[in-house]
Amino acid sequence: RDTVEIVGVNIDNITFQEAENICKEYLQQDKLKMIFTPNSELLVDAVKDPSFSHVLNSGDLIIPDGIGVVIASRFYGTPLKEKVAGCELMNSLLEIAYTQERSVYFLGGKEGVAEEAAQKLSEKYPGINIAGYHHGYFDEDEEKEIIQEIISKKPDIIFVAMGAPRQEKWIYKHRDVLGAKIAIGVGGSLDILAG
Ligand code: UDP
Repeated sequence: RDTVEIVGVNIDNITFQEAENICKEYLQQDKLKMIFTPNSELLVDAVKDPSFSHVLNSGDLIIPDGIGVVIASRFYGTPLKEKVAGCELMNSLLEIAYTQERSVYFLGGKEGVAEEAAQKLSEKYPGINIAGYHHGYFDEDEEKEIIQEIISKKPDIIFVAMGAPRQEKWIYKHRDVLGAKIAIGVGGSLDILAG
């Protein structure tokens, strides 16, 4: 992997196109791949929270989500090729899911947001396979149910939109049981999708 270390986080030095191709490869494999999308704000959080830094570095793909990260890379030796926006990669993943008939699961946002996002997506991509969705405010008991639902519905891609660092830590904690091919932290993207 060609990475550039910025404040202790190893960011993949890839173009958007390369990130998209890597995602397509992930979908051909069985082991869960974790995709994290740090922007400069998150990198600052990672400096203050070593456990978050550790979680980010455990990602299979760590994309530079914002021009701030690209600019920062110029001060750390190797300039990153380009910004790879998390919300754009999410849009690509949704398009790929539709064309390759892969299933998706949305986790996060306030009550109704994930459902609304799923509905909007079905309008854009009629027949897209939405394995399920759940809001992002749950207690431990509900969490067990959510994980059971994910295990039984077997989504290929899980979009986790609970804000950083919660979403990244959640994916990391449950990585061995989720059973999907890709889990990606997407911040406020579900809100955008829901409109
Ligand atoms: N969110 C959630 N559960 C939480 C906290 C936040 O589902 O416990 C959702 C929130 O509703 C929003 C999303 O996470 O849809 C992103 O939140 P925020 O804008 O704070 O995060 P960022 O995009 O800055 O990472």
